[in-house]
Amino acid sequence: MYRYVFGPVLSRRFGVSLGIDLSPEKKSCNFDCLYCELEKAKPIDKIENEPLVEDILKEVSDWLSKNGYPDVITVTANGEPTLYSNLSSLVDGLNKIKGVSKTLILSNGSRINDKNTTEALKKFDIVKLSLDAADQKTFEKVDRPLKGINIGEIIDGMISFRREYRGVLVIEVLVVKNVNDKEEVIKKIVDACKKINPDRVDISTIDRPPAYRVQAVDNQTLYNVAHMFEGLNVSVATRKDGGNVRRIHLDKDDLLHTFRNRAYTEADIDILFDEETKDLINSLIAENVLHKLKVGNTVFLKAQ
Ligand code: SF4
Repeated sequence: MYRYVFGPVLSRRFGVSLGIDLSPEKKSCNFDCLYCELEKAKPIDKIENEPLVEDILKEVSDWLSKNGYPDVITVTANGEPTLYSNLSSLVDGLNKIKGVSKTLILSNGSRINDKNTTEALKKFDIVKLSLDAADQKTFEKVDRPLKGINIGEIIDGMISFRREYRGVLVIEVLVVKNVNDKEEVIKKIVDACKKINPDRVDISTIDRPPAYRVQAVDNQTLYNVAHMFEGLNVSVATRKDGGNVRRIHLDKDDLLHTFRNRAYTEADIDILFDEETKDLINSLIAENVLHKLKVGNTVFLKAQ
């Protein structure tokens, strides 16, 4: 059974992804975002009992040899991946074995002013940083960061990082109803994004079961927000199909590990898994091991 890799996951933005969890024991994040798809947790600034780089790479190699190369190998952690102290060695190792896959990191951007972190980030093919607010008050409301984290400093760090980074930089703005959807809040994010100058801005809303009782904005609001980013490359995130992905077989342990890390829609399951795995999923639903959760009009399956 794998301990650090999970998936594949069908990402709305990046295609078929193999996930790497750097904090399998518990959520480790210096934010506690209202919309987080992990459970709510007090923000912390380190990962306890960090996994060894060689153990992670061993699992990734094994997965790739059995299942082929996904669009992206995604370092996500069970929280914030830049808290991992060996990120630089990890990405060096991934870049050696990634084949045709791209390396991707999904970060909240909070450590963008830390030199070791930016040196590691520069080695990824794609860096996605979140930016849910550009003013401190809204930032604290939506992302609930550890005390002392300042969004103005993060934005300045993102501007400097962009100047040095040669890969693909994506900024993701996640819009939560009645929290960061006001015009004046979005305008400040737009101004910040224009200074950062990313390759793409992804606008999205809550898509998976959130940590707190918050709601998605409707599609019209999402498109209105996207319109305000005129002049930048904007993508309103939508689901992608699996392309030529090979159907994956997971045994029970790996399936439960994967479904604890990520909620899956029925459409995702249909695209990603082979028939035997789908039968196993159905029997786990019948046994109440996998649970259905509804977000808006979409039904997700998740393991506790
Ligand atoms: S930064 Fe990511 S992992 Fe951390 S709380 Fe926010 S959504 Fe969750």
